Amino acid sequence: MTQETGGFAALGLNPNIVAAVMATGYEEPSAIQHQSIPIILDGHDMIGQAQTGTGKTAAFALPILNRIDVSKREPQALILAPTRELALQVATAFETYAKQTPGINVVAVYGGAPMGPQLRAIRNGAQIVVATPGRLCDHLRRDEKVLSTVQHLVLDEADEMLKLGFMDDLEVIFEALPPTRQTVLFSATLPSSIRSIAERHLRDPKHVKIQSKTQTVTAIDQAHLMVHADQKIAAVLRLLEVEEFDALIAFVRTKQATLDLAAALEAKGYKAAALNGDIAQNQRERVIESLKDGRLDIVVATDVAARGLDVPRITHVFNVDMPYDPESYVHRIGRTGRAGREGRALLLVTPRERRMLQVIERVTGQKVAEARLPGPQAVLDARIKKLTASLAPLVAEAETTHGDLFDRLTASLECTPRALASALLSKATNGQPLDLASVEREQPLVPTGAPRGERAERSDRPDRGERSSSDRGDRERRAPMPLAEGRVRCRTALGARDGIAAKNLLGAILNEGGLARDAIGRIQVRDSFSLVELPEDGLERLLTKLKDTRVAGKQLKLRRYRED
Ligand code: AMP
Repeated sequence: MTQETGGFAALGLNPNIVAAVMATGYEEPSAIQHQSIPIILDGHDMIGQAQTGTGKTAAFALPILNRIDVSKREPQALILAPTRELALQVATAFETYAKQTPGINVVAVYGGAPMGPQLRAIRNGAQIVVATPGRLCDHLRRDEKVLSTVQHLVLDEADEMLKLGFMDDLEVIFEALPPTRQTVLFSATLPSSIRSIAERHLRDPKHVKIQSKTQTVTAIDQAHLMVHADQKIAAVLRLLEVEEFDALIAFVRTKQATLDLAAALEAKGYKAAALNGDIAQNQRERVIESLKDGRLDIVVATDVAARGLDVPRITHVFNVDMPYDPESYVHRIGRTGRAGREGRALLLVTPRERRMLQVIERVTGQKVAEARLPGPQAVLDARIKKLTASLAPLVAEAETTHGDLFDRLTASLECTPRALASALLSKATNGQPLDLASVEREQPLVPTGAPRGERAERSDRPDRGERSSSDRGDRERRAPMPLAEGRVRCRTALGARDGIAAKNLLGAILNEGGLARDAIGRIQVRDSFSLVELPEDGLERLLTKLKDTRVAGKQLKLRRYRED
């Protein structure tokens, strides 16, 4: 493997694609990519058993992209996905990997949006069509030849498509494609219904499965937390407030993510550094030495960069991004709990990655229990505990060294000892909030994506009773964020408890509202509702356009929201 190309070039991908992959910050192919890419590049049919989180999208997108003839402006690859969200994600992934390949056009085809523009995009030369089966069949009814040039078919999350009742639609689509096409099927599970599709519609397929040997992990206390992808940094910062760690390694997937998280940690005063494949070997060694001797406490690393990192001080491993396979999970968490010490491993899981968690549990033969993000009360308790611990060694001595000064200051400031001590505390804690109301205000609630509207805070505040989500809504309503000029706030009753993340709202509004990305301001997803900042100009027209839009299967029903 070379540092520059991270092993992607060795799989036979062309330099434009390798360059785009490198630009996204991937350092090396994941296991499923290693195995699938050469097979798909060779034109074989393939069955890949892999779930979300393994890197399966790139495992088919990269070789398919490699096989597109850009001089032909007609559909050459068709990707079928069970939901509109996944179709959009896959289309975006293709666009990312095609950034350095001029002439590639990708179109996403899904229900809930007008058919005309989709059909036009296909006819206007899109080579890659990413579609949900139902809507694609609607198009086939209008134009049965629309798929006649497709040479590569990918069924993504085939088991999910069958669960959603797309069997008949799939048969219609198979019929509409040239029999000579290449077919690749990805599925997390292979029930008999999937095997039967494979027998009927794939030719001599090669099988790819990430073989997982059972591995045991002992002496490490493991837990997982449900978070939305865009709230991972906030979740890490919150966890660090209460976790008592000595040294910690946080694993992420990309170089950019190492830099982003390390910067956020440094900004909060942690001694943190990034470790990724771009960092020169001698500098890497320096980072590891610093972690060993305590000049650093946190290293944010990719798997590749953390190779050979063996630091006995490490008490905690944070899996901020999911590992690609159970083996690398076991490998990562093995960085802690060394030499008979106790270790703790936390895993952040986004709603779509739940399956991956189950695989890890199966392979390690252990349940990774769910933990909750600490709430404001726990954060406050931890801060006071740290402050107490930092003052404890001083109280015995300080009166001798600073007692006279204290008396002099109370006299010259003409204040009570309590007033002076409070002023000193405020200075010593750098204005850090140390009362509950301020901590609550400082820490916007992080929706966990955990089962139905659960809040991290609940378990931490039995004394305060459970607030209803509408109470919280009221509280949030009283302190709205200032709006940029020309923007208004709109509200939908869909929120985190409906499985909504900001990116879903963004995708829906961009696609169906026809807005430019920078026309959309802040998106705040709360438990039982969400707020989106939109341009005031043309708002009524936009809301009419979005009238029938659905997100996560539910009607968006966006309305102007007035703060008063
Ligand atoms: P998927 O399993 O396709 O849903 O991918 C999960 C996540 O892994 C996506 O956010 C990808 O951008 C990321 N990813 C895929 N392959 C790699 C890789 N080789 N290195 C780093 N990140 C990757």
